[in-house]
Amino acid sequence: MAHMTKVETIGIVGCGVMGLGIAELCLSRHMRVRISDVNDERASKGVTLLEERLAHEVERGRLSTEGRRDALGRLEQVAAVSDLAASDLVIEAIVEEIGPKRDLFAQLGSVCKQEAILASNTSSLSISELAVASGRPWAVVGLHFFNPPTRLKLVELVTTPSTAPSTVSAASEFCAALDREVVFAKDTPGFLSNRLLIPFIFDAIRLVESAVADAADIDRVCRSGFKHALGPLATADLIGLDTLEQIGNALFEEFGEARFKPPIALRRMVSLGYLGRKSGRGFFEYERTG
Ligand code: NAD
Repeated sequence: MAHMTKVETIGIVGCGVMGLGIAELCLSRHMRVRISDVNDERASKGVTLLEERLAHEVERGRLSTEGRRDALGRLEQVAAVSDLAASDLVIEAIVEEIGPKRDLFAQLGSVCKQEAILASNTSSLSISELAVASGRPWAVVGLHFFNPPTRLKLVELVTTPSTAPSTVSAASEFCAALDREVVFAKDTPGFLSNRLLIPFIFDAIRLVESAVADAADIDRVCRSGFKHALGPLATADLIGLDTLEQIGNALFEEFGEARFKPPIALRRMVSLGYLGRKSGRGFFEYERTG
């Protein structure tokens, strides 16, 4: 087991909602970021989105032109997993399915430098399985960021019985460098946050399904009555309905409890391509972002 180094170069796999958000956060803290996706086209699309977001930050006076140039100078789009070999930490933020994640961790385990930390941003899948797939279980943790990672401070740091203490301290230091607040969680499906959140969102969807009320009114109850910043259906749209369905599938498979089973209305919306904010339509309508 190698000694951990300070985390300065971050590899990110997945240029979706979370991968780009985590990349933006790391860039804002002066880290170097290498990012990839299934193919160059998707990765380029992601990098373009990130460039636009940083331009938007400049327009709003939250970032200087020089700051944007500097951040983009530390961002590199790469084509292959092997291009991430020199990263101090790799964060996986790909589709919420165990097969592709397992394959990726096996690849990361064979190419990354010995001191590297390998992290998954999974919402519901087993960190232990990914740890085994990597062939270096001591180096693997869950780093579950919240959406949007640039704005929400919490990170669930998920460990398994095989995670080395040096990995935990390096991952904690990384979160501190990002000014994030860490909650430690054991490797249980959905950790703490999604074990609470997913049944709540699914109940809200079931209310829509049974026509008890419309989406706007259900969300209004939570915002005005419970002081939630966002209602459960707007939260579903923010997460992405496809990702939400996959999280539900994983939790249902593990716990076997009906409250984790994705409601039929959700499945149908996903089949129709209504994926929430990222597709422009979910329980509400949005301007398309990607
Ligand atoms: P997304 O659908 O927006 O993006 C996923 C990206 O991964 C896509 O660009 C896709 O092309 C890419 N991808 C898929 N398979 C790949 C592979 N084998 N190799 C490389 N790239 C691949 O999804 P997301 O919402 O960003 O979710 C990513 C991960 O983060 C999931 O594990 C999800 O559970 C987790 N997560 C999501 C949220 C959320 O609110 N959306 C919050 C916390 C954690």
